[in-house]
Amino acid sequence: MVRVTCTRCGRTYTLTSEQIVLAVEESRGTKRRHYVATCPYCHHATKVPLRPIRQEYARMERLGTLPEVAIAEEAPPPNSEGSAGDEGTQKRE
Ligand SMILES: [Zn+2]
Repeated sequence: MVRVTCTRCGRTYTLTSEQIVLAVEESRGTKRRHYVATCPYCHHATKVPLRPIRQEYARMERLGTLPEVAIAEEAPPPNSEGSAGDEGTQKRE
């Protein structure tokens, strides 16, 4: 369980396991140190340090209780195949 205290309304809420997975997956390979959670009461965005989130993720991974979350891939894999230096698609007929 990762508890978050809203910086606006002061209420505490817990991140869902899906949010934890998303936070870890999204921050993988980045230098991000925080996950931005949204308060369910007032919808205020609160930064949450990733460290306890990663710890919780590792705990769920150990227990085998990680939820399956579909991650939308933002960066497509680099396509370095084929001939290089072929910029600008000029088509001749
Ligand atoms: Zn709030």
